[in-house]
Amino acid sequence: MVAVILILSSFGYAGYSFWLIQKQYLNSETKVLNLENGLSVSQKNLSELKSEYLTTLELLKNEKQTNAYFEEKINTISSTVGILEKLSKIDSELLKKYSKVYFLNENYIPPRLTDIPTNYLYVKDKPLQFHADAYPFLQKLLDASITEGVPILVISAYRSFGTQAYLKSSYKVTYGIGTANKFSADQGYSEHQLGTTVDFTTQVTGSNFVGFDKTDAYKWLLANAYKYGFVISYPKQNTYYSFEPWHWRFVGVALSARLQNENLNFYFLDQREIDQNLVNLFD
Ligand SMILES: [Zn+2]
Repeated sequence: MVAVILILSSFGYAGYSFWLIQKQYLNSETKVLNLENGLSVSQKNLSELKSEYLTTLELLKNEKQTNAYFEEKINTISSTVGILEKLSKIDSELLKKYSKVYFLNENYIPPRLTDIPTNYLYVKDKPLQFHADAYPFLQKLLDASITEGVPILVISAYRSFGTQAYLKSSYKVTYGIGTANKFSADQGYSEHQLGTTVDFTTQVTGSNFVGFDKTDAYKWLLANAYKYGFVISYPKQNTYYSFEPWHWRFVGVALSARLQNENLNFYFLDQREIDQNLVNLFD
């Protein structure tokens, strides 16, 4: 009997324990489910947040690109405006090729002329003028020639249309029309009317005009004038015009350096190619 009671009660206890455990299991299962639910909600929030973040990032990136694009555009436009503004202030005649078919207008006068100091002049009491913007380059050239022992002087510089006409007719009277045409460009064709052209000479006897190519000063100019933006307009053996060793024109340092390096002559370059240097004329 006792044994039966013991067996029954142990069954009862086992049943109770099983019920307890089962209840605990169900509780934890519910908790797990709740947690899982919570987790999936958070995961959903997280992925929504993530996609929102990515969209914002993308928008921001696009915005940045648009800004960079506009910034670049603005920079390009302002640099173009800068170049155009600079160009608008430079007289395009200053780099034109002149010939017997294309010449400077008789009314042309350089906007600003400056007196060349008398110490640089061959004839001290005959004032000469030069283009004011190009004058600093001329002065540097003349000073360098003095420093390097081949002092160069200026015998002619700016000539108005009227002066050129007068000069030409006086040459005609003195030398006859044929000879005058050879060494004095026809009135108005002359580069002297630009104000950026000079005739050089020295104190050495016989170095004026046709004798100038025998001087050290001439050799010095051939080797150095380009550093100051000057070129010989009508060099030896040019087919354009007769040889004028004394006659030098300011065309800007960039262009003169190119002509020197490539052994080219101003009058043999294409006008369009020459004009590309206009913006740097006084640099
Ligand atoms: Zn000349």
